[in-house]
Amino acid sequence: MEPITDIQPMPELPPHNCRKVIENVYLALDGEMSHQDMRTFLADIRRCSHCLEHYQVEESFKHFLQQRIERKCPPQDLKDRIRSRLNGEA
Ligand SMILES: [Zn+2]
Repeated sequence: MEPITDIQPMPELPPHNCRKVIENVYLALDGEMSHQDMRTFLADIRRCSHCLEHYQVEESFKHFLQQRIERKCPPQDLKDRIRSRLNGEA
């Protein structure tokens, strides 16, 4: 992924829609976006401090979860809760 600071705003961006951007945060963090969509998303999110902050919080949380998962033997119920969250069942 390109550093967020290197993305220039693109003139063809649609009007900013916080709800739509925040839905896309999860796709972006899960790597389910095409390269082009990702560029558009990152340019769009930089226009709005609210969305950018949301993205950064979710990104930190995802890293936190990954570190927890990679540690040996977290409590079983924690693993189940994380798995539920990752499967969208939370
Ligand atoms: Zn926004």
